[in-house]
Amino acid sequence: MTNGLLARAGRMQECATIRPQGRAMKFDMTFKAGALSAALLAVAATAQAGTGPAKISERARAVQAGAINLDTHLDTPALFSRPGWKITDRHSFQEDGSQVDYPRMVEGGLDGGFWVVFTSQGERDAGGNLKARDAGLRRLSEIREMVAANPDKFELATTADDAARIKAAGRKSVYISMENAYPLEADPSLLSFYYKQGLRMISLAHISHNDFADSAGMGVAPEGEHGGLSEKGKALIAQANRLGIIIDQSHASNTVFDQMLALSRAPIILSHSGASDVFAHSRNIDDARIRALAKKGGVIQVNSLGGYLIDTGATPEYRAERRKLYDAFDDRTAPTDAERAQLKAQLAALDAKYNIRKADFDDYMRHLLHIIKVAGWEHVGLGADWDGGGGVEGYEDIAALPKVVQALLDAGYDERQVSAILGGNTVRLIRQVQALADPAAVKAALE
Ligand SMILES: [Zn+2]
Repeated sequence: MTNGLLARAGRMQECATIRPQGRAMKFDMTFKAGALSAALLAVAATAQAGTGPAKISERARAVQAGAINLDTHLDTPALFSRPGWKITDRHSFQEDGSQVDYPRMVEGGLDGGFWVVFTSQGERDAGGNLKARDAGLRRLSEIREMVAANPDKFELATTADDAARIKAAGRKSVYISMENAYPLEADPSLLSFYYKQGLRMISLAHISHNDFADSAGMGVAPEGEHGGLSEKGKALIAQANRLGIIIDQSHASNTVFDQMLALSRAPIILSHSGASDVFAHSRNIDDARIRALAKKGGVIQVNSLGGYLIDTGATPEYRAERRKLYDAFDDRTAPTDAERAQLKAQLAALDAKYNIRKADFDDYMRHLLHIIKVAGWEHVGLGADWDGGGGVEGYEDIAALPKVVQALLDAGYDERQVSAILGGNTVRLIRQVQALADPAAVKAALE
């Protein structure tokens, strides 16, 4: 069982499944739970829908038009090398599993976000580190090439002001972030090169420990290797601070969170995380830490990956069988659409066999509304993990973003508050972190 495999399993577990079965099953469970009267059943049926507002109001559209809508964790660059896949084409989640492209960004009102240089954690030896270094640089180039190839639609963003300016120009913002600092293990000084190329956010570890930091794991938190951050991780944080790169805690352990918060001179972000007080999962964060994050000016961006939102009922046996399917899929270097469809069907059959429950829009909103209550609306945003495992029933791709806006208005939040959550808070954070950078370090990196 390789780290790469686990990463793939984790990242695809939602997008590669068929959701309607989950709804049917949920209803069935409710029915069996007790002798429900017809009236109660009717109420349950309404609640089971769980797929969010059916209509989007003019007010919601107006709020989005006036806001800067940013998602802080877009894994879409993983698709840039898929044969035949183009960001300018309108794809459908049902057909190819993808969740973000230019036409759907326009439809959903997303103005841009942080596009991720993701590297799945592999061997931590000289060979593995070099492979990771190359993979990171390749992904970075793919993001920059996508922007260069579509100058009328996208623009590289590096400062807080860029977001509004690019929106006004009718284009989409491409901020660059890194998920898992594994590509820097061979040479952490590469961070300056990444900065020069546009990197403005970085997380240290993914689903397993690395040389920089301990991971939160994938459900049950593994025992720490460094007791939080390693010395190398602490040095990386100091350098990120000097350059004005936002430090992202998502995927790291709770101890790493505590240490990052204490060490960082600038507020930090959780680019795609949920609330462990809503669903206890090692990838989520507890209320006390959410409060501590907000107190220091940080922001938590809410993830929509179903397995982190609810108890799906996944057992070790289910996980083992699923891993086997991904293992077989992983052996293909360039999977065809037919092979992808086959995997999707196999996963759906497996989910049905184990009665796996699927999260829906209401489950997503439960985390979002809880986090807003705990952190305060000035410290919350959206990082749905599109194309990285995010998305739930009723919130399957970025075209559905207006539903969240409607749901926030329906929950009683006003225009100013919703606008902050949609992206204003992220823009503020970019500004704060960059204001605390060391001008000499920034100048040196740009030379
Ligand atoms: Zn992630």
